[in-house]
Amino acid sequence: MTHTITVIRGDGIGPEIMAATLHVLDKMNLGLQYEEADAGLVALEKHGELLPKATLDSISKNKIALKSPLTTPVGEGFSSINVQLRRHFDLYANVRPAKSFPNTKSRFPSGVDLITVRENTEGAYTGEGQQVSEDGETATLIQKITHKGSERIVRYAFDLARKTGRKKVTVVHKANILKSTSGLFLKTAREVAAQYPDIECNEMIVDNTCMQLVMKPEQFDIIVTTNLFGDIISDLCAGLVGGLGLAPGANIGTDAAIFEAVHGSAPDIAGKGIANPCALLLGAGQMLDHLGMPQEAERLRKAIVATLEARDNLTPDLGGTGNTMSFAEAIASRL
Ligand code: NAD
Repeated sequence: MTHTITVIRGDGIGPEIMAATLHVLDKMNLGLQYEEADAGLVALEKHGELLPKATLDSISKNKIALKSPLTTPVGEGFSSINVQLRRHFDLYANVRPAKSFPNTKSRFPSGVDLITVRENTEGAYTGEGQQVSEDGETATLIQKITHKGSERIVRYAFDLARKTGRKKVTVVHKANILKSTSGLFLKTAREVAAQYPDIECNEMIVDNTCMQLVMKPEQFDIIVTTNLFGDIISDLCAGLVGGLGLAPGANIGTDAAIFEAVHGSAPDIAGKGIANPCALLLGAGQMLDHLGMPQEAERLRKAIVATLEARDNLTPDLGGTGNTMSFAEAIASRL
């Protein structure tokens, strides 16, 4: 079966890491077809808007997108394109794996293998009720959590555990203080967990989770949590295993899914050809899992690990002297 993927090359280092990623995917002969679509600054220049309708239509049709980072111009009137995409397609699950890799600057070159499943549509990030009083003295925000939203994200985490053979889901919350919002999330998580007796479930307060992650990250398997906590925890986890150059993320909904690198468009190194392509490549690996090609996804991840082990053409952020494309070629040669 052939799959058509919407490819968004994005801004800054985006086109460079996408070229490297597609080079490796092409070497895998998976029969993938690509449909190019614009978003971000490049779309603003070409079409007069950051997120053209043609791009939304392409993602709607193909249901899968591989996306490079996008630059959201700073200033009034520009809302984040990534947030717009999440809202438009109701991409409720932000799935961010963090796995130890060899030869990185990580404190944990082995032992960490966890996935953060972050609720992507509710909580503190909807902007609802956001206002500052006229005298500038008081700011407010409504933090809304629903049973439906909590139910589907926790179910996603447990289903992911079953599908990937993982054994444990940790529900991260702050229900001791945020009794209504985090309390509803925790109560719902308990209801869902009871339906998965084959998967171990434990509960952990978010501040303790941060300490435990830094002290003993190997105790975690899958973490499921609300939007704000998930945003912070998943970056903490990326830091544990070697930083942003190795951190991929998937945004998954019922009707569409977008795979990406967690990092931004890195304007400071754009055009130099030295960006690390691994985060987007690992995002492509998540995409292959999602498309029902887990063996191909594993083949790609093994080639990345083997290249890191051999220190073959690593990019400068990993202490190497390679460049974006030579690193990709080194990975492709180990497939
Ligand atoms: P950034 O992630 O772009 O860069 C932070 C630092 O990490 C920089 O020093 C950069 O050179 C380095 N870096 C990032 N990716 C790298 C890679 N693949 N290889 C080597 N080094 C890498 O964060 P920022 O500078 O805060 O943001 C720049 C722009 O990116 C902003 O416009 C922001 O809105 C956007 N952004 C987009 C996304 C997205 O599209 N998913 C995510 C975050 C930020």
